[in-house]
Parts: sequence; structure tokens; C-alpha cells
Amino acid sequence: MLIFDAHLDLAWNAIDWNRDLRLPCARIRQLETDAGYTDKGRCVNTVSFPELRRGKVVIFIATLLPRLLRIGAMPAIQRYSSMAAAYGAAHGQLSYYEGMVQEGHLRWIKDWPALDKHVRQWREDEDSTTLPLGFILSMEGADSILRPDQVEEWWNAGLRIVGPAHYGVSPYAHGTGTEGGLFEQGPALLREMERVGMILDVTHLSDQCFDEAMDIYGGPVLASHHNNRTLTPNQRQLTDEQTRKLIARGAVIGHALDTWMMIPNWVRGETKTFVPLEKIVDHIDRVCQLAGNARHAAIGTDLDGGFGKEQSPADLDTIADLQRLPDLLRQRAYTDADVEGIMAGNWVRFFREAWGTGPRMNADERS
Ligand SMILES: [Zn+2]
Repeated sequence: MLIFDAHLDLAWNAIDWNRDLRLPCARIRQLETDAGYTDKGRCVNTVSFPELRRGKVVIFIATLLPRLLRIGAMPAIQRYSSMAAAYGAAHGQLSYYEGMVQEGHLRWIKDWPALDKHVRQWREDEDSTTLPLGFILSMEGADSILRPDQVEEWWNAGLRIVGPAHYGVSPYAHGTGTEGGLFEQGPALLREMERVGMILDVTHLSDQCFDEAMDIYGGPVLASHHNNRTLTPNQRQLTDEQTRKLIARGAVIGHALDTWMMIPNWVRGETKTFVPLEKIVDHIDRVCQLAGNARHAAIGTDLDGGFGKEQSPADLDTIADLQRLPDLLRQRAYTDADVEGIMAGNWVRFFREAWGTGPRMNADERS
């Protein structure tokens, strides 16, 4: 079964972690072990192109995440000291994707005809060793957008999704772990995103920013990597009320396989509880129960988001093990059509609806 993963930080791994994603995970782990790395997330990575192929994860949302690794710090991410530096770093990551397209590993999907063609090709040849893996480009945290009127420049560069915040405070919005609303330029950023056709990713917005963004922004909304707050009580997750609002807007919610987001009270670097892959089905099921159907829940693993096996489901060695999820869903009485939707079809439908008549056309009609 083909899988669509709505959140991978591939370029950040390739550049900031200096990982050659063309290699199998076992080889990357060995190289890091040989190099003497001991910091968190090293020598245990779970995502690379061969593993994505093996797991038939043939489409994903890939990010620009212009952050620096801070050795020994928790969490192991740090903001560049200026937006101009973040802007430059984001272009470096964008160039990485360009290089992988040129080498035939990746296919950059920017509109509905390209996505439709990609999915049809893979459905006809599920075991292909030659078709490229497809990605839609997203920006996690809008720190690399220097001004709201630069959104269009980013669109022209191939960016299709923006999450205005990440951990902490960003120039436009409060993010995970903080409380507060949009900053002065936040509303202008959202209006420009809507005008241009840039999709809003609400993941990492503070609660107040979530409400404000949903009011101001009238375009298509998604939550790329987000679990449920009733099951894992933390502001990082979606409340049932937020989930209902997203469902009413036609959003799809990608579920993350970061163990601290899957069960309560997980402490990064300390907890050793055995968390099985099956645990994510509880979060997926909650969205389906709130929706009354299985059309809004999906996958957004974040499996390369600054952690590896030590903070992933204990029965998952690499992202290829996602192929066990369809059976776990069937065991909870999900139909084959539901399972296909959760694994890929719901995202494909979301983008068809968001891009159906051409995103720029939509933007022009709205303005
Ligand atoms: Zn994230």
C-alpha cells in the first residue's frame, strides 16, 4: 500500500546533521558510530531514501527548517540569530531538494496535475525501483519569510505550505511551549498566504494563534504532524475542539510517531517505556470518532525530526515499518477504503481540493 507522510525534515537532516539520505539507515548509523557521535538522535536514524522506498512512502511533505543543531542542548534545535540568516539557510535547504531532483531521487510536486500523475504512476507500479519519490515543499516556522510581501517570492520558488511558528516564539506567531497571539505582521502574513494560495499548516501554533489564524485565513488548512491532547495532555497536541474546527474546514491531520506525543508523561532522553506503533491508532481513531468518518486522519510521522529509534515506537526500526500500520487499523475494524484513505488517500484528496482548479487561479478569484 502506498503511504503519504505529511512531515519529514529531509533537507535539515541532510545539511545540519550531514546525513547522506541516499544511503540505507544501517549505513548512516554505522558512519555516525564510526565518527564517534554520542549526542541524542545520532546513530539511530530511521529515515533515508532507501527506507522510504522499501516502505512505499512515495509521497511526503518535506520541510525547510532553518535551524541549527546545538550539541548537548535540549531540545537540540536553535534559531539562527537573524531572519536574514534563516532566509539564506532555507535557500540552502531548498537547493538540496533541487539537487536530489536533478539526481532522480525526488520529484518536486507543485500542483494537482503533478500530484495526480505521481500517484497514478506509483499505483501502476508499486514496486518501482526507478520512479522518483515525490515531495511537496513546506516551511516549518516562517522565520525565513523576511516580510509578508515575500510570500509570493517563496511561492515562485516552489513553496506550497507554511506553518507560521515552530517551538518557541517566531517573528509572526507564538509557537509550541508559549502562550500568546499573532505578532504585528502575523495577520498580514496570513492574508498574503491566502492571496497567493499558500496552504496554512496550524501545527506548532499556540492555542491563541490557532484561533486567530483560523479566523483570519480563509484558504485551505492542514495539521501536518499533530496528535490528540486528550490522550497526550500537552499544548503541543490538538484539543478536541481544535480538531472539530479543523474537520469543519476540511482539514486533514497527520499523526506523529514521536513517542513523547503518543503517550502521557514521556520525558525526552529519560523515559524508556515500550510504546508500540499500535498506540498511534488511538490518536487516529479519536479524530475519526470526532469526525464521524475516516476522511480527516492521516500520517505525518516527523520520524526524522531531531530524534531516532530512542524516541520512536519500540517496534519500529525504520520508516519502512509503517507498512505494518494498515493491518493495525484493520484490526480496529477500519475498512480497506478507510485504511487507504488514512495511509495516503486523504492527503491526496486534500490537495486535489486545495489545488483542484489551480492554486493561483483560486488566489486571483479571492482577491
Ligand atoms: Zn515539528
